[in-house]
Amino acid sequence: MINIPKTDKKRIIIAGCGFAGLTLAKKLKNSGLQVVILDKHNYHQFPPLFYQVASAGLEASSILFPIRKIFQNYKEYYIRKCEIKSVDSAKNQLITSAGTVDYDYLVLALGATNSYFGSKEMEDNSKGMKTIAEVIDLRNTILMNLENALISPDQDEKERNLNIVIIGGGPSGVEIAGALAEMNNYVIPKDYPELKERKANIYLLEGAPRVLHMMSEKSSVKAKKFLEKLGVKVLTNTLATGCDDKCVLTNDGNKICTSLIIWTAGIKGIRVDGLSSEVYNKNSRIIVDKYCKVKGYDNIFALGDITFLTEEKFPSGYPQVAQVAIQQAKLLAGNLIREQKNKIPLEFRYKDLGIMATVGRNLAVVELPYISFQGIFGWFVWMFIHLMSIVGVRNKLIIFINWAWKYFTYDQSLRLILRPKGYS
Ligand SMILES: Cc1cc2nc3c(=O)[nH]c(=O)nc-3n(C[C@H](O)[C@H](O)[C@H](O)COP(=O)(O)OP(=O)(O)OC[C@H]3O[C@@H](n4cnc5c(N)ncnc54)[C@H](O)[C@@H]3O)c2cc1C
Repeated sequence: MINIPKTDKKRIIIAGCGFAGLTLAKKLKNSGLQVVILDKHNYHQFPPLFYQVASAGLEASSILFPIRKIFQNYKEYYIRKCEIKSVDSAKNQLITSAGTVDYDYLVLALGATNSYFGSKEMEDNSKGMKTIAEVIDLRNTILMNLENALISPDQDEKERNLNIVIIGGGPSGVEIAGALAEMNNYVIPKDYPELKERKANIYLLEGAPRVLHMMSEKSSVKAKKFLEKLGVKVLTNTLATGCDDKCVLTNDGNKICTSLIIWTAGIKGIRVDGLSSEVYNKNSRIIVDKYCKVKGYDNIFALGDITFLTEEKFPSGYPQVAQVAIQQAKLLAGNLIREQKNKIPLEFRYKDLGIMATVGRNLAVVELPYISFQGIFGWFVWMFIHLMSIVGVRNKLIIFINWAWKYFTYDQSLRLILRPKGYS
């Protein structure tokens, strides 16, 4: 049993301290509930800037924030670093890597992970961008491949080390493609003068007819134009049909040789054992009702990327983005407080605040509820919104200084290959 004092207050367990879990926990301050926060990491992370860490534009520490520091002044809050394993709903117990813990309310906010649509070869041979560990591994691989391209006596291997294939033309794929293309244009000629003539080839594969297919046609066309201007080879209507550690095969019969495949094409909810199989949809997302309550359970809720909920405007479920997680968390906090006061709960309605993606310096596409714009203004809006959303004044400052430095110097000095003990 995890050691947490038993009091006369009802206990809520928040499993996962990402956008949803963090918002819920903050909103429950002074709610009269005992709040227990469980996460497998001791930090909250900011995935929208993962691609900048992967492309050595930011240090990982500037987009992470220690969970304990956030809740230093919150009374009756208990934080435990452990991994959620399963739920025993009959006993109202959660089973974790650190032991079991009783709950009155359980909130699952564990987020999502990579989905490879059943392709084991893609899972084994590609790099994902869903956790900071994956992102640091990706950054090390990008830098190691450049080093290997210089060392290798074999021309084919040299070419492979310089080719990068990104699978998935959604916002994450577009953003990492743009960032790597900028690295290719501004950094490689200076750091690797011997590779000046033969820089990396960056391929972006998208199965749909256009990149950013969740945005308007105009934004998609602009984003593609921006990417091509930077030198990215954008291949739409192109599916990766297979791969190994040396190449990717596509549906039009082509083969691209590469030492680095970046996977941004699929996402699925993180499953928790012990829940009925009926709560999951085909992408392992947990089906919740308008109160974020898990189908068939009275005191188990789910929030954010892990959930599946539809409304007329979103027949295939809400997008797995930060705003959905934050708004669901605010609604649930309000409803739990209403319940203490015997008030009826409110239903969730998603307020779509827009969508945006950045391709590179002065190049972004932004769609807000009543206005859309692209280019330099979009880029500044993108930077402002992301900077404001980061947790911690220190992080905001460091990121701002990094961006300003990069803007004026076209360079960043963060290209370090740092690996844990055991790697050379
Ligand atoms: C590369 C990338 C770029 C993105 N860009 C954007 C963007 O520009 N704009 C946008 O709105 N959204 C973006 N998103 C999506 C956004 O990050 C998610 O929608 C949001 O993080 C969902 O919040 P969440 O709280 O549901 O999950 P998360 O924020 O993922 O939090 C889940 C938490 O659960 C913890 N956890 C997971 N499994 C376990 C376990 N078994 N035991 C214990 N703890 C566990 C994790 O450590 C984490 O702290 C991006 C996502 C990625 C991956």
